[in-house]
Amino acid sequence: MCGIFGYVGQRNDAGSLVIDGLKNLEYRGYDSWGIACKIDETLSIEKDIGKISGIKTSNFSDSCALAIGHTRWATHGGVTTQNAHPHANEDETIAVVHNGILENYQELRAYLEKKGHSFKSETDSEVIPHLIEEYMKETGDFASAARRACKDFEGRFGFLALHTESNTLVAARNGSPLIIGVGEDGYFIASDIPAFLEHTKMVQYLDDGEMVVTDGNNIIFSNLETGEAIEKREIEITWSVEQAQKGEYDHFMLKEIMDQKESVARAVNQNEDQILTLAEAIKNAHGTFLVGCGTAATACMAAEYFFSVIAEKHVNFAPASEFKLYHHFLKPKSLVIVVSQSGETADVLEAMKVAKSKGSKVLAIVNSEGSTIDREADYSLLINAGPERAVASTKALTGQMAVLMLIAYAMNDKLREGQKLLLETSSKINDMLNPRYVNFIEELAEKIQEKSALFIIGKSWNYPMALESAIKIQEVSYVHAQGFAGGELKHGPIALIEEGTPCIALVGNDEVKADIISNAIELKSRGAFIIGVAPENNEVFDVWIKVPDAGNAQALVNIIPVQALAYFLAVKRGKDPDMPRNLAKSVTVK
Ligand code: GLU
Repeated sequence: MCGIFGYVGQRNDAGSLVIDGLKNLEYRGYDSWGIACKIDETLSIEKDIGKISGIKTSNFSDSCALAIGHTRWATHGGVTTQNAHPHANEDETIAVVHNGILENYQELRAYLEKKGHSFKSETDSEVIPHLIEEYMKETGDFASAARRACKDFEGRFGFLALHTESNTLVAARNGSPLIIGVGEDGYFIASDIPAFLEHTKMVQYLDDGEMVVTDGNNIIFSNLETGEAIEKREIEITWSVEQAQKGEYDHFMLKEIMDQKESVARAVNQNEDQILTLAEAIKNAHGTFLVGCGTAATACMAAEYFFSVIAEKHVNFAPASEFKLYHHFLKPKSLVIVVSQSGETADVLEAMKVAKSKGSKVLAIVNSEGSTIDREADYSLLINAGPERAVASTKALTGQMAVLMLIAYAMNDKLREGQKLLLETSSKINDMLNPRYVNFIEELAEKIQEKSALFIIGKSWNYPMALESAIKIQEVSYVHAQGFAGGELKHGPIALIEEGTPCIALVGNDEVKADIISNAIELKSRGAFIIGVAPENNEVFDVWIKVPDAGNAQALVNIIPVQALAYFLAVKRGKDPDMPRNLAKSVTVK
């Protein structure tokens, strides 16, 4: 949540560079924005509420080689221009942008007010520049004052501070991601890679409890607590600029849905020895847990079925935000599999802490290489979906399910069979996602766009996909949507069905096909308009969305047309599918 981006170096367009970079972080969700530049030795701050996308970058380009910017997702203080970051100190030599929550800010603010500092905003963040200024009174040194200030902060933070007099940037991290881009003519510091991807692919990761100081020529990493210097490796990231752009599509969400033509195959392309080792680790574990949030949680739930049907192995799913309560079941021989697109999800990081406190091993399945979860897990597998920028997760889900399914096959000594099935599925997805198919779904969205509620049913692995379908429709189109296990309908929810209520039935050619068709008939008898997502047509369907027969991988193909339907429902209803209200991409707060 929130975007941070700053630059210091030899370029003289730091202002426009920072604005452009922040536009690439828009997917993280925000309500206001701001930028601070050093221009002619003085600090110039500009901020506003609303979107940054319409801002002309040319206003900021005037001979500036040091700048920081922020897109805020308000936690403390309303969405106002005053509360937007950056915040400055009394004599306007320090500007700070912050992600996270400083839990003891009231105490710090009272202390600083006594010392004569005055505050302009209601935010927790504004104490940061003032406290640094206060401590600078003693030593005069910006970096050591920033280190000392960090020791006073309670809560999660990632902040970036600019000092005009020393022409330096300082960044410190405790819970919110910050990544350094190493450019040929300076350093970039951002909360995510797309901010600087067009300038450099060489990165250095700042870890929790660390700080970095740079003047554009030199860079020094150190431990926040002890001040000891830390050697950092430079890592070259593999994402391309094109992958992170919309290309021919109107929205990232549609682009990412279409990316599934290739991304499933990339997820399957794993190191075989590593998959076999992990399969063995699950076999030997005394209890395996699958943990994720939101869409990744539905991938975990689907994997419960994969492990049951394909590997005949019992695993337990728990939403990451609930996992703390499972600590009684954890032992050093337990295995916790965490699934996350961003690799920065706060609830998942908390779940990892719980696992580690019990000595349990953690396997991560993530998309963002080098993210905190990727680095902190005992084993990590990348799904290689490429950057996912729309808030609604699509290609990450199918990548996560593909990797989990592959492991399930490997556990039953059938890795080859799993690879073959998933690669065939990938090419079937490629055929399915043709322009005619996509148009068909757009027309269906047009037809049902005015409906106030939508229900989705599934059985077996299509049950978590029914839940996922509801998440997708809710988050981008704001239509009330609910997913159910088909068999649960008659225990309550069927009372909601009225004449014409659209109901999607997710169907496969499998042992539960007859059951789910019966459930669809029950719905139709109460007046429901049945949209069947199935390899074969059935007389109960009012509309049939044809999907390829993918056997055990049916969940991966069935969800895709529903993702597209959610997208078109959003567009037809005039909503922005890439930036849904109240939501952010990488949920770094608990
Ligand atoms: N807590 C800070 C505020 O409300 C930072 C929020 C953010 O992460 O954007 O201003």
